[in-house]
Amino acid sequence: MPQRKVKPLIAGNWKMNGLRNAAKELRRMAAQCAKSPKPKADVLVCPPVQLIWPLRETVKGSPIRLGAQDCHPKASGAHTGDVSAEMMADVGARAVIVGHSERRTDHGETSGLVRQKAEAVHGAGLTAIICLGETEAERDAGRTIRVIGKQLQDSVPADSKPQNTIIAYEPVWAIGTGRTPTLKDIEKAHKALRTRLVKRFGADGEKFRLLYGGSVKPGNATEILAIDNVNGALVGGASLKAADFIPIVQAAG
Ligand code: PEP
Repeated sequence: MPQRKVKPLIAGNWKMNGLRNAAKELRRMAAQCAKSPKPKADVLVCPPVQLIWPLRETVKGSPIRLGAQDCHPKASGAHTGDVSAEMMADVGARAVIVGHSERRTDHGETSGLVRQKAEAVHGAGLTAIICLGETEAERDAGRTIRVIGKQLQDSVPADSKPQNTIIAYEPVWAIGTGRTPTLKDIEKAHKALRTRLVKRFGADGEKFRLLYGGSVKPGNATEILAIDNVNGALVGGASLKAADFIPIVQAAG
């Protein structure tokens, strides 16, 4: 399968956690990545935006790249309190997470807005990590594949490329709960997303990275990362400590 050639990515989403002293933990992560065996996966850490610039020195010379969380769809203007993808690129971010369920739920973000944000990320020359996933009620109603298929269609810009777009499948009910879908259910969801990407983008559809996110931990990372069409993980809580995050990085490959 061509998807096996996709290099995995382990991305950490620090959410609204981290002060300047977070450099200590990130330094630990960078040091552990430098040890043998070298990570076979690409590694991204997305701290709160104010830490990107100071932390760029901390990851210098390591395989860890820095990303950001969420952005405004415009590059600049009268939008008090917002931060643009261009600003994130300016301070050293390589990627921006958009469409996270915490944004969709807490801020009422629609897939249409998520698409505009992803377009802004592309416009800034960065990679958009576009999150999607069903709620527990949608899962219980047997609507998972339909829901995530529609989110994919509506959230992913038409001119997306595997080089600037990553899809993260994150069941809402699995985020921060310690619960995960069965391996079979993850496989089914990722296969459905892959099929839709190929239908929409042709051969390129095989090359988009599809990350799984939702309670990934050192204890379940190996089996999740071995699933067909799972090209890495988006990790929340377990990305805050090197002792949890690095074993997940090492499980990929
Ligand atoms: C997330 O918020 O993207 C996430 C996957 O969180 P957690 O790993 O804590 O479930």
